[in-house]
Amino acid sequence: MLNVRRGLDNLKNIILIAPPGAGKGTISNYLVEHYGYVHVATGDLLRCEIAMNSELGQEIDQIISKGYLAPDDIVIKLVLKKLEQIHNKPFILDGFPRTLKQAEVLQEIFLQFHLNNITAVYLDVDVDTVLKRIEGRRICNQCQKVYNIYSEELKPIHEGLCDNCGGVLVKRSDDEKEKMKIRFQIFKENVESILNFYQSRKELQVIPATTSITDIVDKIINEAEV
Ligand code: AMP
Repeated sequence: MLNVRRGLDNLKNIILIAPPGAGKGTISNYLVEHYGYVHVATGDLLRCEIAMNSELGQEIDQIISKGYLAPDDIVIKLVLKKLEQIHNKPFILDGFPRTLKQAEVLQEIFLQFHLNNITAVYLDVDVDTVLKRIEGRRICNQCQKVYNIYSEELKPIHEGLCDNCGGVLVKRSDDEKEKMKIRFQIFKENVESILNFYQSRKELQVIPATTSITDIVDKIINEAEV
C-alpha cells in the first residue's frame, strides 16, 4: 500500500515511458508525494519556458502547440540543467527520452553523473483508454497539477479550481483531437527504438496501466526498490 515513506537511498531513478495521456504526470505526483521522488517532466519544463515568454519560449510554443516534438538539443539542455540541481534524491524522468537520440544522450549524462540505479518503466495502455483520459484532463494554470474530471480519484474538490493553490483548471491546447493524432503518431514512430534501447540494457519493465493509480504506483515501486 501507499502512505509509507521509505528510505530514499533504496529507490532507483525512474524513466517513465508512455503514450500521451497514459497518466505519467499523475503517477509522478504520487511518487513525489509518497516516496520523495523529484519530478523531472520535460513537458512542464517546456511549458515553463513558454510561460516566461522568452524568444526561446515563443519558438517552443510554435512547435509544441501543434503537437510536434521540441528539438532534441533544447530539451536535452533543459533536462541537464534540472538534473544538476538534484542532490541525493531519486528522480523520475517523465516524458524524456522521447527519441532514440535523447535516450543515447541521457545514457552519456548518467555516465557523467555516475548514475547507474535506473529502471525504465513502460506504461502499457490502449489508445481508447488514453483518448478518454485526455478528454477529461485538466491542468492547473498556476502549479501544473493534473486533474481528470471523469475520475473520482482525480476530480478537484471544487469544480474548475486547483486543490493545491486555487489556480484555474484549464484544458491543454495540445489535447485537442487533431493535435492528439499527431502526438500519437510521433509516439508510435519513436517508442519501439526507445524500448529496444532499454530492453538491450536489461533496464526495461512493462507495466499495464489500466488499473487504479495506487496499483500502478505499487508495481512501479516494486521495480524501483533496490
Ligand atoms: P507532455 O507534457 O509530456 O505531454 O509534453 C507536452 C509536449 O511537450 C509534447 O507533446 C512535446 O511537444 C513536448 N515535449 C515534451 N517532452 C519532450 C521531449 N522529451 N522531446 C521533445 N518534445 C517534448
